[in-house]
Amino acid sequence: MMVQNSKIVIKGMGLTELQTWCESVGETSFRGIQLYEWMYKKGVERADKMLNISQKFRNYLDEHAILSTLELELATQSKLEETIKYLFRLKDNQFIETVSMVQENRHTVCISSQIGCNVDCDFCATGKMGFIRNLSIGEIVDQLIYVRNNVESPITNVVFMGMGEPFLNYDRVIKSAGIFHNPRGFNLGKHRITISTAGILPKIKQFIDEEQKYKLAISLNASNDDVRDNIMPINKKWNIRQIIKEGKRFSSLKRRQVMFEYVLMKGINDSIENAIELASLLNGVDCKLNIIPYNESDGVYQRPTEKSLNDFLNILHANQNGYRILVRWSKGQDIEAGCGQLIYKEKFATDIN
Ligand code: SF4
Repeated sequence: MMVQNSKIVIKGMGLTELQTWCESVGETSFRGIQLYEWMYKKGVERADKMLNISQKFRNYLDEHAILSTLELELATQSKLEETIKYLFRLKDNQFIETVSMVQENRHTVCISSQIGCNVDCDFCATGKMGFIRNLSIGEIVDQLIYVRNNVESPITNVVFMGMGEPFLNYDRVIKSAGIFHNPRGFNLGKHRITISTAGILPKIKQFIDEEQKYKLAISLNASNDDVRDNIMPINKKWNIRQIIKEGKRFSSLKRRQVMFEYVLMKGINDSIENAIELASLLNGVDCKLNIIPYNESDGVYQRPTEKSLNDFLNILHANQNGYRILVRWSKGQDIEAGCGQLIYKEKFATDIN
């Protein structure tokens, strides 16, 4: 049980945990169901608004429980799209970012699972911060609650693709996904929740073995181990073939396609040879291949030219067998809200000075 300033953090507790806690403070377990619905289904963050709960227990909650874990520091609206990047301040004065993207009837929220990240992908701004700490379940869930309370379009999809490697905060990410999926919580369908990993192999295996029902995305980003070793050092531990093998296992066992993500970077992984290698690696693999032209952030890596993007795609299409190809242009590049761009710059600057 998490305690902050002698108060219990109940935001983030699951249904059973809330029921047990209510009983432990002299309430019925039914109160736990009510609290769960007030917090997650209705997004209420103050006890005095929980109208079907007795005044006595509302007073108790006020005095002894924490119902909200973050506050907004800054919201930046893209001028190009219906995309907003939120900067949240946590109770320990750390910061995280969350991105809301609305396109037609689809509202996707990209949430963070850690403050910083130690996976150290060379092209990623978050990786440059280093690892600070894992987020609590409450901090993960509160990102979605804030967006739901402040953006008119109903949330249709949530992706764990913000700051951090979700599989290095596995238990809390899975429990948060449970709250998103629970009909008494956010009531999002299991296929509306995607967890994206850089390739933490033991956790991918655990995710498959536990038959977790959410969608799985794996960042591949290279067509051979030499390139992947350079841009994603994690590859030296778990290489491309191991990752693809597990991806295949997910697709076959879950009867749902794994998604491989490939951030295309000029002169790094966008050559004709890379496309041929990639087509051959994925030959016969039942998967989606998401090609993401790189979002430039610090000038080291660059977006591919339109010609090399088209040449790359043509080769993949010509050799297509088993995999489906999608091209995803990241949203909110003018506000640095695209994939791999999330970093809290002012904080980072203070940390490194
Ligand atoms: S891409 Fe993801 S896993 Fe890699 S450093 Fe960035 S946040 Fe971490």
